[in-house]
Amino acid sequence: MEGPDPFHPQVGVGFAAVSAVPVSDLDELQAYANAVAACTKCRLSQGRTQVVFGSGNPHADLMFVGEAPGFHEDKQGLPFVGQAGKLLEKLLAQIGLTRGEVYIANVLKCRPPGNRDPQPDEIEACEAHLFRQIELIQPVVVATLGNFATKLLSGRPLGITRVHGQEQQTALGGRKVLLYPLYHPAAALYTPAMLKVLEADFARLPELLGRELEPVPAVVEPELALVAHAEPAEQLGLF
Ligand code: URA
Repeated sequence: MEGPDPFHPQVGVGFAAVSAVPVSDLDELQAYANAVAACTKCRLSQGRTQVVFGSGNPHADLMFVGEAPGFHEDKQGLPFVGQAGKLLEKLLAQIGLTRGEVYIANVLKCRPPGNRDPQPDEIEACEAHLFRQIELIQPVVVATLGNFATKLLSGRPLGITRVHGQEQQTALGGRKVLLYPLYHPAAALYTPAMLKVLEADFARLPELLGRELEPVPAVVEPELALVAHAEPAEQLGLF
């Protein structure tokens, strides 16, 4: 691409560096959302109705990361407004939360045609948007919904069937967070056994939100043994 990267943290919100008035993370998140609304970094920009940046409390302690907008999300410009979103709201209600109290985003900000799986180059093009969101929102717990968010944010190839419900302290957006992989609500919609597991995993969120995080170790040892056990191909989908 020619010229400056329009999604560099300081481009488009560069007034933060010179203004006498401090620009809050909230303003920066809105400025970033405005910039991303015009993103053409990948082919998905050509078929979208609009960018689905994310929604909810910009200061949320709990952030959810799903896969990609679907039909309804693309039309309304909001994440998780279809059937999976209704289930997500129900699960939140079971732990005394509303969607306005958490922040909800996706790995991809634009709808893949026919709701197909995200492609590796699309994830690569879009991931900076998610990392910047995390940096600005500063959540305590990041709950990944399904395989794509889990693999991207954990940096490991382990599928959701293996790792759901296993919290892991990591550093995202330059800060300590607890990463908490969950089954994707869309997968649980049609599989009662999976819904039970998702409900049980969800029920642990209040405890995780109150947890004291340990200092980040200076050197993080690569988990070679875990990385060596890649998931079989059929587990690359929602579950
Ligand atoms: N599924 C997702 O992963 N994200 C949405 O926004 C909706 C459905």
